[in-house]
Parts: sequence; structure tokens; C-alpha cells
Amino acid sequence: MSAPRVLIIGCGVAGPVLAVLLKQKGYDPIMFEKVRQLGDVGASLMLMPNGIKVLQLVGLADAVKAESAPLQGFWEGKATGEMLAESDLPSTFLAKYGQPAAGVKRTSLNMMLKDMLLDLGVEVREGWKLATVSETDEDVTALFENGQSVKGSFLIGGDGIKASSRAAMLNLQGVPQSAPNYTGLVQVAGISETPEEFLEKAIKRNWYGQGAHVIAYPISPTLTSWAITMPEDQEAEETWHLYTPGSIKTEAGNLVTMLDGWDPTLHRMITSAQRVIKYGLFDRAHLQPHQWYTERCVLVGDAAHPTSPHLGQGANQALEDCYHLSIAMPVIDPKSDDYGRALETLGKYLSKNIFAPFAEKRQPRTSALVKGARIQGELRVSRDPQRCQERDALIRDSFKDSAAVEAQYDSLLREPFQQTSS
Ligand SMILES: Cc1cc2nc3c(=O)[nH]c(=O)nc-3n(C[C@H](O)[C@H](O)[C@H](O)COP(=O)(O)OP(=O)(O)OC[C@H]3O[C@@H](n4cnc5c(N)ncnc54)[C@H](O)[C@@H]3O)c2cc1C
Repeated sequence: MSAPRVLIIGCGVAGPVLAVLLKQKGYDPIMFEKVRQLGDVGASLMLMPNGIKVLQLVGLADAVKAESAPLQGFWEGKATGEMLAESDLPSTFLAKYGQPAAGVKRTSLNMMLKDMLLDLGVEVREGWKLATVSETDEDVTALFENGQSVKGSFLIGGDGIKASSRAAMLNLQGVPQSAPNYTGLVQVAGISETPEEFLEKAIKRNWYGQGAHVIAYPISPTLTSWAITMPEDQEAEETWHLYTPGSIKTEAGNLVTMLDGWDPTLHRMITSAQRVIKYGLFDRAHLQPHQWYTERCVLVGDAAHPTSPHLGQGANQALEDCYHLSIAMPVIDPKSDDYGRALETLGKYLSKNIFAPFAEKRQPRTSALVKGARIQGELRVSRDPQRCQERDALIRDSFKDSAAVEAQYDSLLREPFQQTSS
């Protein structure tokens, strides 16, 4: 009998990692991605030890770390560059969790993931946008906007914040799907040569000003990714904008004018940007655990728990999902004594024994993080001088209790499994 076919929607972060983890367990994954040719996307991601541990399981952790500059410290400061707090906590991550934190260019990660699929012989169909889904007790059929349909044993929706899989599954459950929530904030993000004064140590830096917040971290030994978050009342999805090489200079000039009086190093970094994009920040109200799955479909990553980026955990949580779902799935090995039981689980008990416990485990943690990210965004960006002063004092004070900061990170980074330094 052939291996159970798994339809995976979305070749972002979660989709390809799950495809490999399931292939390792004897399944036959097939990847569908709406983009015609995966390539240049977004700016960057800060991968934390909880996410990199999962990348290690698919053999990508070393490549990510080799390209990046693993993080050694945190720095928090006022807009002017006056320091509020600093910490060398990230320099302890490798020893404590077996992996460091590492910034990575999103395009590089996406291409590494796609190449990994191709190397392992996983079929990747680009330009296949999921339209809807239908299911029976035994199988699932995905219908695509190109008019084609494909049948599988089950389907994994990893198609991100605007997931068609989520809409299709909510439809199967008779639940109306609402639009993503605009958080009231936009980001302009860029990639620049790392300024000389930041080269010595890989540090994630946050500058807090009135009406704007800036984050910057290294994504290679010589490149830094930065993002300016600011309020914008009138948001439209069309905000997403990649500046052309000719218009980057003008936009950088506008940003520097807007950030008048801010840290001069920041000005130099923005002015030397090689790439600049702008986008609105969205999240969605959380789903209940039972809404994460149907009889033969399950959601992972942003499709299940789309988040604004202020805690830097979206991709890391997507990777945690991959781990938990893959360990819950039975091994498919025709030579094993458990083969019959595995097929029975896939046939009759998939939703009850696999999807339901997975969603019940993952929903509380991820929905708390989505809420936390929104609160963090509201704290970071304010136009009110009084609130800005209170925010700065809060940041200064919170870092004074280094044990509490460490405990907060530990609750995130010790998951999804223990790993010590190799
Ligand atoms: C500005 C910004 C900064 C961020 N920074 C961080 C960070 O530092 N650290 C972190 O952990 N997270 C970060 N995140 C969050 C992170 O990007 C997401 O949580 C993560 O990418 C989710 O992974 P995913 O695989 O679920 O979805 P995605 O990465 O969004 O991938 C979804 C894929 O599905 C495809 N797709 C969509 N619809 C369809 C369809 N109908 N049919 C087929 N394919 C489809 C898409 O083209 C895409 O390739 C950030 C997010 C933003 C917006």
C-alpha cells in the first residue's frame, strides 16, 4: 500500500518543515504554494532557540546559524541613543537551550526550506492557490484556483494570516470568517550594512521615541535588519510596498527627517539601506481549539494563530506547531507491527486522537502570545509624551530584575523540547 498522501498548503515556514518531519515518519507530503515562483520576500526574522531546535530536526539549524550572527545581547534605549537597559542574556542561550537566537533574512530562510524539499524529493507545486476544501470520512479534496483538484489522506493548512484553508475549514464548521484586524500600526523595514559601532557584538537593539519605535538586529556578520513601527490611522492592505532602488533614497531621507533628533547611528543605517519595504501590521482574534481542525484538516502557524510581530514569536511558534503535530502522528512503516494500528488511527481517529489534542495543547500558548504581541505593540508606540515617559521607566525597571527577565525568556525558549549544547 502506498504511503498516506498529505496535502500541505503554503510553503512559508511551517509548511515545508512539517513536510519533512512527516516524510521522515513515512508519509507522502505534497506542497502547494500560491506564489508562482518562491523568491524575494519580506525582510527578516529573529529565530529564537525554540524555533531553531525544530529547524535542527530537519537539518537546517547549522545553515541558518552559519549565515547569521548569533545574538549576544539586548540593548534598550531612548530615541536619542541614551541607554535604558542592556543584557547579555542571549549569550547564555546556546549553553542553556542548545541553540542561540539568530536573525535571518526571510528570503534566505524560504529558499533554504524550498531547496530542502526539493533535495528530499518532495513535490512542490508553485502557482497553486487553494480555493476550498471538501472532505469525507476517509479523505480530503483540495480545490485550487487553477480549477484542478487533488485528493489526499489529510490536509495541513500552513497558508499564513490570510489562509484559504482556515476560511474553508471554518466554512465546513459553519463559522463565519472575519477579516484580519489592523493593529493601527505600520512598519517600514530595511536591510543595511551594519554600522561600524555595532559590528563588535551581535545585539538586538530597540529605540523608543515619541510616535515611533525602531528595532535592529544583525542577520549576517555584516548586515543589519531594521524596522520602524509607527501609527497610521488609515490603513489599507495596499500599504505593502517594496521601494524601487531609485526611490529608496527618497524614502530613507523622509524617514531620517521624521526621526529628527534620534540616534545619529540610526540615521546612517537608514540612509545606507539596500532594501526598504512598508506594510501594515495585522493579527486576528483567536480561534477556539476545536476550530483548528475538522475531520481531515488541521491548521498550523499563522493560519491557526496569526500574530503581529512585536514579540518575535510568530515563526518560532509555527515551528513549535510542526514539532508537536509531527510527534503526534503515527509512524507509517509497513514492516512494523504497529502498521495496522497506525492506519486505523489515520482512518478513524485522526481528528479525535491527533488533531484535537494537538490543538488543545497549542491554542492556549499561542493565543496568549498573540495577545501579548498586540499589547507590546501598543506599549512600544505612543504619541503621548506622558505615556512615553512611563514606558521608558517600565523598560528601565523591568530589566533591573534580571532573574525575572531570564524566567520570562525561559518559559518561551525551553520549549518545545529540551536540548543541551552539542
Ligand atoms: C514584519 C514582520 C516581522 C516578523 N518578525 C518575526 C520574527 O522576528 N520572529 C518570528 O518568529 N516571527 C516573526 N514574524 C511572524 C512570522 O513571519 C510568521 O508568524 C510566520 O511567517 C508564520 O509562518 P507560516 O508558515 O505559518 O506562514 P507564512 O510564513 O506566512 O507562509 C504562508 C505561505 O502560504 C502561502 N499561501 C497563502 N495563501 C495560500 C493559498 N491560498 N494557497 C497556497 N498557498 C498560500 C503564502 O504565499 C506563504 O508562502 C514577523 C511577521 C511580520 C509581518
